[in-house]
Amino acid sequence: MSEYVYADNAATTRLSDAAFEAMKPYFTEYFGNPSSLYKLGAASQRAVDKAREDIAGCINAPRPTDVYFVSGGSEADNWAIKGAAELGLKKGKKHIISSRFEHHAVLHTLEYLEKHGYEVTLLEVHEDGLVRPEELEAAIREDTALVTIMFANNEIGTIQPIKELAEIAHKHGVLFHTDAVQAVGTVEIDVQELGVDMLSMSGHKFHGPKGVGALYIKKGIRLPSLIHGGAQERGMRAGTENIAGVVGMAAALKEAVENIPERNARLTKMRDRLIDGLSVIDRSRVNGDRVHRLPGNVNMCFEGIEGESLLLMLDLKGISASSGSACTSGSLDPSHVLLALGLPHEIAHGSLRLTFSDENTEEDIDRILSVLPPIVERLRSMSPLWEKIVNNSKD
Ligand SMILES: *Cc1c(COP(=O)(O)O)cnc(C)c1O
Repeated sequence: MSEYVYADNAATTRLSDAAFEAMKPYFTEYFGNPSSLYKLGAASQRAVDKAREDIAGCINAPRPTDVYFVSGGSEADNWAIKGAAELGLKKGKKHIISSRFEHHAVLHTLEYLEKHGYEVTLLEVHEDGLVRPEELEAAIREDTALVTIMFANNEIGTIQPIKELAEIAHKHGVLFHTDAVQAVGTVEIDVQELGVDMLSMSGHKFHGPKGVGALYIKKGIRLPSLIHGGAQERGMRAGTENIAGVVGMAAALKEAVENIPERNARLTKMRDRLIDGLSVIDRSRVNGDRVHRLPGNVNMCFEGIEGESLLLMLDLKGISASSGSACTSGSLDPSHVLLALGLPHEIAHGSLRLTFSDENTEEDIDRILSVLPPIVERLRSMSPLWEKIVNNSKD
């Protein structure tokens, strides 16, 4: 499969060799339970402690104990939001602010809270996919308990001004959480510099293993426990630790943050070459701001075709891509992210997301540039919708 191109790194990434090697001993020799008192257990405990230190270091958390291990990005988001909602309630605060194009781990959690009496305001993200700080400020109320805004969007890759947004929340005494699942390992993250109270990450989005993630919680924020049971995670999230998982996540993150500037320069060049090359296709458009955007994210619409057909044809040519997010494709609903940008349904349907990591090459871009335009042409030649678009533009 030398011609195979994996261009869906926002959905998940390949486990790095370093992460895999680091994990192996914790499946075999070092199988002890960290909570037990003999040496075998202590080895596991040391591995968990070391992973926590490493991850805290990678995001510049003041203390390793500010990092709590969980099962992934969805769990981290759920904990941060439901926990902050519960804290708010104690002070009579039942209002939460977020944005229209968050991941479903955030949006569906907010819907759940709405059913339990909370009020939610979703900020517009406008055509460029960016929240306006002044609109956040205007939305804050006396009873606002939490602002949760994603760092980088998983579909269109736009990057929000998190530091500025967190400052606004704090000016009004409101907690600030960010779902940074798409950003950690890709852009430099310094939780102290950003001033966030909580930050979610997920191992499998930066070449770590699936089913493991972390929530950074600033010291002093007393979130309620997520899972009740043993004393793991300082009594906040019970359950025997996923030792191999946290070790793999830490190894992957250490590797990922080593050469961010060089890698991003290379990815940005590849991304822009691909966008420029695909933009020559008639009635195509780039979704989201081109500058405030993850270096490896290309998201485009091609009018007159269905994203799903495009994906199937790309797959036949050995190219793995996505329309919308992995969680929503498979359904025929257009992406809530693209609708939030104000795109009409029929255009949002013809969208394509290609996301790259450091494992992609210039040859991958060449291959997509040679394969994709003829597929678009072929699909359009069979599309009644395209015929209508062309005819309408004639008169
Ligand atoms: C993937 C993703 C999640 C969910 O992470 P899991 O580890 O798969 O639960 C949450 N938010 C964003 C932005 C994501 O990209």
